[in-house]
Amino acid sequence: MTGPRIEVLPPAAAERIAAGEVVERPASVVKELIENSLDAGARRIAIEIDGAGSRLVRVSDDGAGIPAEQLAVAFERFATSKIRSADDLRRVSTYGFRGEALPSIAAVARVTIVTRPPDADTAATLTVTGGVRQAAAAASAAEGTTVTVEDLFYNTPARQRFLKSPGRESAVIVETVQALALAAPAVAFRLVDAGREILWMPPEPFEDRARRVLGPALKDHTLAIDAHGLTGITGVLGTPQVAQARRSHQWFVVNGRPVRSPLLARALDQAYHTLIPDGRVPAAVLHVRVAQELLDVNIHPRKAEVRFAEERVVFNDMVREVRRVLHAAALVHTAPGTARTAGGAGALAASDPEAVGPGAGVAEPSAGYGPPPGGGLDAAAPSLWAPEPAISTWPSIRVLGQLGLTYIVGDAGGDLVLIDQHAAHERVLYERLLARRRAGEAQAQGLVTPAVVELSAAEETLVSELGPALAAVGFEVDPFGRATVRLLAVPAIAADRDAITLFRSCLADLGGGREEHAARDLEERLAIATACHTAVRAGDRLDHAKMTALLDELAGAEDPYSCFHGRPTIVRLRGRDLERWFYRRM
Ligand code: ADP
Ligand code: MG
Repeated sequence: MTGPRIEVLPPAAAERIAAGEVVERPASVVKELIENSLDAGARRIAIEIDGAGSRLVRVSDDGAGIPAEQLAVAFERFATSKIRSADDLRRVSTYGFRGEALPSIAAVARVTIVTRPPDADTAATLTVTGGVRQAAAAASAAEGTTVTVEDLFYNTPARQRFLKSPGRESAVIVETVQALALAAPAVAFRLVDAGREILWMPPEPFEDRARRVLGPALKDHTLAIDAHGLTGITGVLGTPQVAQARRSHQWFVVNGRPVRSPLLARALDQAYHTLIPDGRVPAAVLHVRVAQELLDVNIHPRKAEVRFAEERVVFNDMVREVRRVLHAAALVHTAPGTARTAGGAGALAASDPEAVGPGAGVAEPSAGYGPPPGGGLDAAAPSLWAPEPAISTWPSIRVLGQLGLTYIVGDAGGDLVLIDQHAAHERVLYERLLARRRAGEAQAQGLVTPAVVELSAAEETLVSELGPALAAVGFEVDPFGRATVRLLAVPAIAADRDAITLFRSCLADLGGGREEHAARDLEERLAIATACHTAVRAGDRLDHAKMTALLDELAGAEDPYSCFHGRPTIVRLRGRDLERWFYRRM
């Protein structure tokens, strides 16, 4: 019945533990105690805080408990039941393994532990204040363990001064609980702050917990991912429509551990590249799995980061699999309905591209905290405006006309769609360029008469730096005397544009803010500039045939739903919403 004994690690193992402060703020205490509960096999974990965790953190579980005679040793440094030697560090599967949490917490607070293993008749209890043990006594208690931590940093006022505002410290605690709840979706979690229930999460499948943590404003704008290659990736991805200004809606679990991962975050950026605007980041909750021997978990004192042995492989797998999901989905931005009448602010936030813009999810911190008082989570999502499943393919569109010389107006099976003619054409031209490059086709279209272009000093430097990138996109440039070049060919996609204007506009685009860019980056930026300056603009009159041809080509694009700046190409107003507006349907 009883598990492995708690023993002090031999010095050789202790020395190999990544060193550093374990307890830097109340959330660290919450994290360490929850991890202990999870390691003890708890099915239910209740967390209680007060004073943003400084006055009180209490974590109760229904796990294995600690036998009375081992209680004292649990508070020794490097005392653990989870590993025995430095060798074990290579295959740690528990959250804890350092044997440092209890002693570190007890050194800066008053800690009381009450614990009863299932086979014990009575509970054992022990209080440690500032590292000094007080009498342990028998007590009665339910099976499991309750650890109470009071007056954190009472004896280290300097640490106390480093804490952020109570609001911020509480928010970090909520995030900490959510992160661990994502790692253990089969475990029920409850967080109570000053007597108020902030989070309640029943045992549930990972995908459901992921959506719960994203909160009501985002949860219906997600795509499921479930990839089982060398890198396993499961969870949910936010659609481009709900891209965020901050990374606070990105959660990663790696082999069961909640972690920060700049690598995975960068892979997401890459996968959403051109689907969302620069400066925005996708929402995502992902569980990434790699072979345990390809992961080092002992690199961070608070175990907040991990190191992948094969970073390149993980990165590439992630980009590929996320892209696959995005390409398979219809990513049409849907115009908001008249949600105000039906569902209030929550519903509007869920479907309004503006409302879920910069920081919207962050601005309403209650979003992910759990059920609104007096109802299930779904009470926030009104049935009338609950998003329907996205249309699964690019719609077939009948062109109705042009609006304001800027938008193509179309009928997509009874939905009204508006297509931004410039954004659409940009996407089409950009993909044409990419397709030619992939097929190894020549990008260049020779000019009948070469154009002579005089360059400023800055342009001259730029042209020489661009070198092969120019040729790759289709510009053939010949030096022609002082500060002058001859343009022999332009990109074929731009054959009908004025060569000199195009060339100068592209140079102007690349001129600003060019630090060191990799060659590939330069090529990409030049391709984007070329497509941008070739595309029809707002204000250009388009006839019916041109609009139809443009939409046909857009329908065949790999990413038809946005231009490469990440702006949407198409916005849909649902026929159903129109019916409501005209009171044809209530
Ligand atoms: P670590 O988790 O790294 O082993 P800790 O200092 O966090 O170190 O805990 C020391 C030991 O105390 C653990 O190895 C475990 O055996 C025991 N322990 C701590 N918390 C609990 C708990 N909630 N339930 C059961 N055992 C616990
Ligand atoms: Mg621990």
